[in-house]
Amino acid sequence: MSRLRITELIERKRDGGALTPDELSWIVAAYTDGSIPDYQMAALLMAVFIRGFDSEELVPWTEAMLHSGDVLDLGHVNAPKVDKHSTGGVGDKISIPLAPAVAACGVAVPMMSGRGLGHTGGTLDKLESIPGFRTRLEPAEFTRIVERHGLVLAGQSETLVPADRLLYALRDATGTVPSIPLIASSIMSKKLAEDLDGLVLDVKVGSGAFMADEASARRLAETMVELGAGHGTPVRALLTGMDQPLGRAVGNANEMAESLDVLSGTGPGDVVELTLQLGTEMLLVGGITQERDEARKLLGAAIDSGRAMEKLAAVIAAQGGDPRVIKDRSLLPQGPEWHEITAPRPGFVAACDARDVGVAAIRLGAGRSRKEDLVDPAVGILVLAKRGDPVEAGQPLARVAYRDPERLEAALPLLERAWDIAEEVPQTAPLVLGRVG
Ligand code: URA
Repeated sequence: MSRLRITELIERKRDGGALTPDELSWIVAAYTDGSIPDYQMAALLMAVFIRGFDSEELVPWTEAMLHSGDVLDLGHVNAPKVDKHSTGGVGDKISIPLAPAVAACGVAVPMMSGRGLGHTGGTLDKLESIPGFRTRLEPAEFTRIVERHGLVLAGQSETLVPADRLLYALRDATGTVPSIPLIASSIMSKKLAEDLDGLVLDVKVGSGAFMADEASARRLAETMVELGAGHGTPVRALLTGMDQPLGRAVGNANEMAESLDVLSGTGPGDVVELTLQLGTEMLLVGGITQERDEARKLLGAAIDSGRAMEKLAAVIAAQGGDPRVIKDRSLLPQGPEWHEITAPRPGFVAACDARDVGVAAIRLGAGRSRKEDLVDPAVGILVLAKRGDPVEAGQPLARVAYRDPERLEAALPLLERAWDIAEEVPQTAPLVLGRVG
């Protein structure tokens, strides 16, 4: 197909027509090998953003992305292979306690995580706050570690789904990220390339999520569950609230410390609960048990006995990190300066806006404003008052760890408006809003 032909395909999509499987596969392959230039792909992405894809288009598009590079072969792993993916949130460190807890129950977890995106944090940045920890693993090493430990915590290899790397960068620069078919194909092509037996999705809903309302989050979840089914991979999704940060820590090293708290039995209630709920889905989809209560008990026992923490320690060591962080949290960087945000009046916390807190953390240096920015693992926010908590005037709402006073100045306006203090006790919002699959 020629350049001329791609213009016809763009026009057809623009005018609401459908593209055939052969045309979609060709587009993905030709963009990946550079034969379609960015300007034409950008036009096509905008047409897809506006017109959408029907399922006859989405399946071949996703499969073409999945086969745009290497696909992992984890055939030698002697256990069901299940991963979890979150659509991204603020304070969302769940993968770090979840993966070893599930692995300690007999499911192999070849976890491939991402970096912070927009105002949301990324598991890789959090893991890299452990001195020496390597998240860039070649496929052979990735496979070896998961074969040996039933767990690996790494970034996406360069050779897996190159189409998504290119498409994602282009979408980021052309206002075409928040499209259900484009997000679903981006996430599912990467996850299906991991050679999984099952996948659990945590689809976030709320101010700190890409999907602000429950109806869109549900459509995204249903789309991804269908893509999994079409590929023969069982997928289950939970829709979970992201109006306020998860847990107390927002940053990198502080989120790592909070993850260790979950595995030592002292984690915040919402992080512990979500770890158990997502873990339950992973054990069910992995076939370890058919019973929800039994799955929850198995996970509780793996945490209480210390087996989950031992699993994490072994993988930290296998990936070059210093496993002493488990006993000595002072090995994780913090601060060096601190600032407190206080309640302007007495009352009850009616809201602690996840997006404001997330953007404030980025401004402190916990995330990136530009792709090439370096993340400072030591800075971040400790949220001390969450929705429903009673507060006195002057009581600390958050402790901010910062390095650069100018960055603190940039973060403060967001933190000062993030909390809403009301006279009445607010209604409680459920953590898990729904289930798909
Ligand atoms: N995460 C992804 O991997 N892709 C998207 O498009 C959005 C979130």
